[in-house]
Amino acid sequence: MQVFDVVVLGAGSAGEWVAGGIADEGGSAALVEALRVGGECPYVACIPSKAMLLSAHARHQARHLEELGGAAAPPALDEDRLAFGAAVGRRDRLSGGRDDSDAASSIVKRGVTLLRGTGRIARPGAVGVGATQIGYRDLVVATGSRPVIPPIDGLGAVPTWTSDQALSAPERPASLLILGGGAVGCELAQAYAGFGVSVTLVESADQLIGNDDPRIAADLATVLRGSDVNVRLGVSVTRLEPAAGGMARALLSDRTTVEASRVVLAVGRAPATGGLGLEAIGVTPTEAGALRVHDDCRVEGQEHVWAAGDVTGIVPYTHGANYQARVVTANLLGGSRVADYRAIPRIVYTEPPLASVGLTEAQAREAGIDVMTATADVSQMARAATDGTAAGRLILTADRARGVLIGAAAVGPRADDWISEATVAIRACVPLAVLADVVHPFPTYAQAYEVPLRELAARLR
Ligand SMILES: Cc1cc2nc3c(=O)[nH]c(=O)nc-3n(C[C@H](O)[C@H](O)[C@H](O)COP(=O)(O)OP(=O)(O)OC[C@H]3O[C@@H](n4cnc5c(N)ncnc54)[C@H](O)[C@@H]3O)c2cc1C
Repeated sequence: MQVFDVVVLGAGSAGEWVAGGIADEGGSAALVEALRVGGECPYVACIPSKAMLLSAHARHQARHLEELGGAAAPPALDEDRLAFGAAVGRRDRLSGGRDDSDAASSIVKRGVTLLRGTGRIARPGAVGVGATQIGYRDLVVATGSRPVIPPIDGLGAVPTWTSDQALSAPERPASLLILGGGAVGCELAQAYAGFGVSVTLVESADQLIGNDDPRIAADLATVLRGSDVNVRLGVSVTRLEPAAGGMARALLSDRTTVEASRVVLAVGRAPATGGLGLEAIGVTPTEAGALRVHDDCRVEGQEHVWAAGDVTGIVPYTHGANYQARVVTANLLGGSRVADYRAIPRIVYTEPPLASVGLTEAQAREAGIDVMTATADVSQMARAATDGTAAGRLILTADRARGVLIGAAAVGPRADDWISEATVAIRACVPLAVLADVVHPFPTYAQAYEVPLRELAARLR
């Protein structure tokens, strides 16, 4: 049996990072992948979704070209159906046709041993991949997550898609019923609606985006409604049944019905820990399926088993997976790093995007923090006038006792980028007085920080 310094299960963002990092430093690393090297992000998640959103936004801008001064008269646009085909072509090129051969050869070139197949822990120190067994000094579990299939009556009898399918199929359905108002559901809703697909998004909670600030979540609902998405909050689907013409009919908790060509299941993702043989090393995942890890990303109760990425259920984003992978790699190479999760950005890449980081006001109060908040109307920025932007908001949350920012949330053009200012401020605990003295270029959306920061700093005196 060949024994490696490190065996990594799952070659997604996290797994690739760790295996490559160990090999770069001269260690022996084996990477076991059941499907595609690169995992979800490049092929069926981050990249194709951002590609489709960009195409939908480009079409929206083209429709408003005259208003934006780019044409003297509205340009003639082709049919939604044809444009969708062009968008899918671009999406698939950017996703490399969902072919991982380049990613696979590049990780092998770095010196990693790539094993294709499903890995399973055979016993402490050994992993099985099909008929092959390999040994490890340290094991890293980076198996990602899988879409949650909601237990709805009749689900099996209607045409459904997971997000993977919605971002890889060439088909443009006439209508979609999206279940779930998290980032995935919201992004798919705007992307498809941009090509004339009739989209209904149903979210059982009273707001979109889980526990994020309710004002920001309401702004996002307004954004989606403005993109012709029928957003239904506080209702759930109680039953699904086939309808005429291969359609799906959904019965909702408020006794209304919705018919759609396809139902998209976007109610969340669960850590992929089933079938990994964790019992062989005495590890029991949480009820949600996540691996419990310490701050150094070592699996609880284990000396030589680590986890990174969606499988930990802590920061389910590519940047979160890469961050935990950095921590694991540094520790495997003899360091003693711990992860700091206080400032991990959360983004919904709609147009305009929602971006948040740190604690919401409610979470801070619950934690017993003496909270101050201040807001800015992003639509009042000079840049909003030149761009023709009608809406946007920034909410800052600060800890009065420590005099630092602890949270920020925004909806506004390019907020996914300018949220980084708050990210650094929170992570580095920059004093409010210093933040309030920062100069931003004119005219930018980042100027939205200035008035609320001065307001918060003044309240400390
Ligand atoms: C539609 C959508 C859009 C998204 N957009 C963004 C975005 O814009 N930005 C962002 O930051 N995040 C985004 N995310 C989240 C992001 O994709 C994930 O957080 C990220 O891919 C997690 O990386 P990972 O390495 O943990 O897991 P994954 O990328 O899922 O990789 C896990 C790998 O493990 C493999 N595997 C599983 N079990 C085994 C086994 N037993 N043996 C061998 N291999 C196994 C899988 O085949 C997979 O390749 C999006 C998610 C979705 C669904």
